[in-house]
Amino acid sequence: MKVLVPVKRVIDYNIKVRVNQDGSGVNLNNIKMSMNPFDEIALEEAVRLKEAGKTESVIAVSIGVPESQTILRKALAVGADRAILVEATDDPHIDIEPLAVAKILKAITAEEKPGLILMGKQAIDNDMNATGQMLAALLGYGQATFASKLEIDGDTAIVTREVDGGLQTLKVRLPAVVTVDLRMNEPRYPSLPNVMKAKRMPCDIRNPAEFGVDINPRLEITRTVEPREREAGVIVDSVDALVSKLREEAGVI
Ligand code: AMP
Repeated sequence: MKVLVPVKRVIDYNIKVRVNQDGSGVNLNNIKMSMNPFDEIALEEAVRLKEAGKTESVIAVSIGVPESQTILRKALAVGADRAILVEATDDPHIDIEPLAVAKILKAITAEEKPGLILMGKQAIDNDMNATGQMLAALLGYGQATFASKLEIDGDTAIVTREVDGGLQTLKVRLPAVVTVDLRMNEPRYPSLPNVMKAKRMPCDIRNPAEFGVDINPRLEITRTVEPREREAGVIVDSVDALVSKLREEAGVI
């Protein structure tokens, strides 16, 4: 069985995102970009499945700007066997929407025939949480979202999901789409020799037109604003004063 792991290049999660003054979007100039953290977890899990002999190979795929090759090289260094880059745009400000990504992934699935597509539950730049679900629907596959544990048992995946106030375990027949949550594992750092080796490994470069997918956006972002600055707190001198503030100023009781 092969495992396909879609990985997205996003702003590094340690970076404080700055919004352009005119509200036109996020400032990406000289900003560190990295692999989406949920995708790092999906990749780690796929590599662990390979190490446990549950899968033969791991294929990492990214759709976006040519610079996404950097995160694919990281995926190779961590343990992916092959990398596919679908060059969809040269402009880092253009975000390929979940439906277009899902259609491209569907076409790659038809070529590669993976037994499992293991991906992040959401991209931290657009917070869509949609691509995995759309892909499963387009393929007619079962899906298990927000997975915190995964076991492969023959032609079934046993998935523990984080749901409100608890955990749910379900079985899904393979091939399937599984989207991973934060607590599934702790991704490893690639060793320096593996990073060096990954630099020389091939990366298959493809184009959305080869798959007949229209990547034109269907959404228009009309405005982006930073969260409101938190106002300074006030110290009240009695419970009565607190209750009165909560009732009259905050309007919460
Ligand atoms: P989203 O639905 O945009 O929140 O993304 C959910 C997951 O879909 C991500 O964690 C990735 O695994 C995958 N994904 C989304 N966009 C891309 C992309 N441009 N290239 C590769 N994988 C992607």
